[in-house]
Amino acid sequence: MVYHMAKAAILICIDGCGPEYLRDARFIRHLGNEGFSSTGNSMIPSVTNVNNVSILTGEYPEVHGITSNYYYDRATGREVYMESPDFIRARTLLEVGADVGLKTALLTSKDKLRSLLNRGAHISFSAEAPPGWVARRIGDPPHIYSVDVDIWLLKAAKEVMLRESPDLMYVATTDYAMHKYAPQHSEAKRHTRGIDEAIQELVEEVERHKDEFLICITADHGMSDKRRAVNLELVLREHGICSKLNPIIADRYTLHHMNLGGAVYIYLEDLIDLPRAIEVLRDTEGVEMVLTREQASRRFHLDEERIGDIMVLGRKDYVFGLINEEVQDISLRSHGSLHEMKVPLIVNLPRSEISEELQENKDLAAIIVRWLIG
Ligand SMILES: [Zn+2]
Repeated sequence: MVYHMAKAAILICIDGCGPEYLRDARFIRHLGNEGFSSTGNSMIPSVTNVNNVSILTGEYPEVHGITSNYYYDRATGREVYMESPDFIRARTLLEVGADVGLKTALLTSKDKLRSLLNRGAHISFSAEAPPGWVARRIGDPPHIYSVDVDIWLLKAAKEVMLRESPDLMYVATTDYAMHKYAPQHSEAKRHTRGIDEAIQELVEEVERHKDEFLICITADHGMSDKRRAVNLELVLREHGICSKLNPIIADRYTLHHMNLGGAVYIYLEDLIDLPRAIEVLRDTEGVEMVLTREQASRRFHLDEERIGDIMVLGRKDYVFGLINEEVQDISLRSHGSLHEMKVPLIVNLPRSEISEELQENKDLAAIIVRWLIG
């Protein structure tokens, strides 16, 4: 009889976790020190759905098709949330694993992310709608707008490992804590500590079930303090240019960022305005970079069909969105721009086995496939 080594790969995306949030994460740092730890890049725009799908497919947005949390379909004039798996054109790690007979699991804090990433998952639930047996083991999940919900989710991951022993598991938290608290805030520290301890317990559980395990920890994007908001639609209108602004960050859970993010797509009513719109935007407060559809698509590997005529990226302390005035003082933490693209890359494999290939969060997928499937 041939004995097959029992292996498990766990990929954890800590939503909004810029490297600065992990400074006091004792166990995660230990994993990195023993294995591989570096700071890499997220996809741009640095928003949740785009990056979760890149992490889970190992592909750029031009391949997988998710370019925003939110999508304006010009042909129909409809605006839709990109939360259906039908938008994803690439195969996810979970599908690849399931196809070769591995048992796969997907756990997310938000249910909308679960429904987006669900393909190929044998076991899948969110902290918003967990199965009864999990709640009986570790209690009901805390509210989705809480620091504790992510800690609960990682405890749930341990329970899944104990009961189901999956071969491949993806866990994605939510960024509520990071939107709300800077890294030095005591609540942010409590969040990090809770996640760190829960990951340690999860790893200890994995070690009891499997001969070998791979754990990869990254983030979909970081987070910055934002002080000023600009409504670029109003700015353009002031110059006689009619446009429609797509706040890339927009989602149904808007409590903590009011749909104000560091990047937007702009759809012009008349393309004849393109050169002048670009000129106006380049002169606008808070604007760091203005790109045409083609430039944005080339530079950030985005699907041209699913972005606006113009992409605008903001300076570090600026956000864009549909506020009532052209410019407004604000105080919130958000993301979307180039300033939130630094993410941790932590893998419990020796540096020599990873080499140069690991530069971006999406590169973890290939490492997992090679380690788990060969
Ligand atoms: Zn996020």
